[in-house]
Amino acid sequence: MASSSSTPRFSANDVTVIFFLGGPGSGKGTQSANLVRDYGFVHLSAGDLLRAEQVREGSQYGDMIKTYIREGKIVPMEVTVALLSNAMADSLATNPPPAGTKARFLIDGFPRKLDQAVFFEETVCVSELVLFLDCPEDVMESRLLKRGETSGRDDDNAESIRKRFRTFVETSMPVVDDFQKKGKVVAVKATGSVDEVYGLVKAGIEQRGVHPR
Ligand code: ADP
Ligand code: AMP
Repeated sequence: MASSSSTPRFSANDVTVIFFLGGPGSGKGTQSANLVRDYGFVHLSAGDLLRAEQVREGSQYGDMIKTYIREGKIVPMEVTVALLSNAMADSLATNPPPAGTKARFLIDGFPRKLDQAVFFEETVCVSELVLFLDCPEDVMESRLLKRGETSGRDDDNAESIRKRFRTFVETSMPVVDDFQKKGKVVAVKATGSVDEVYGLVKAGIEQRGVHPR
């Protein structure tokens, strides 16, 4: 579980945390694979961790998570933050960074609500940057409907997609705006091809001092 004290579990001197935000279908998972390959990030997707917890035998949260995901709602932060914090600890234990380097975590789809951002930074780790994929809804919708042909996801259907967009606008964009005010956001236009978007992502993070590893 995340620590309940006000000292973060991990020091930003030891680990670098980049939050990766953008609407559903903006391309976060796709670009994460590129960033893992070239920059040595450990990719942690809040949605993937929640889906794994949903089907984990013995989990007390399975049914609750399933309902929240289908409705496109924000799963309570205690569950999501604990999953992320524990995944970071597991990664550091099993896959420590090369000597003399800081572990890099790319945390995809988090924080999606202001209270999560505050709680994570107080109890887990302060973030370095927020990478934001800026994409219009019509583009995201057609990508998600296409993904839904093969993803097997409960929420890649027109009705859930509408609800997810609404949650994104009402609840998650204020997180981006808040980090923007703090000067932490690298915003990238995400309508081009995968390679074009990746070119913009690379330029944006390298301008902030994050280089290949
Ligand atoms: P997210 O993780 O933000 O929900 P994904 O990376 O899963 O988004 O992308 C959603 C869908 O769109 C996937 O099927 C992916 O293959 C596709 N996709 C991602 N980026 C692009 C792009 N730049 N152009 C066209 N399709 C894309
Ligand atoms: P994603 O895989 O990022 O598209 O997320 C799928 C769904 O998982 C979301 O619509 C939410 O229901 C849930 N979810 C993902 N990330 C979070 C988060 N940071 N906090 C709460 N719920 C989340």
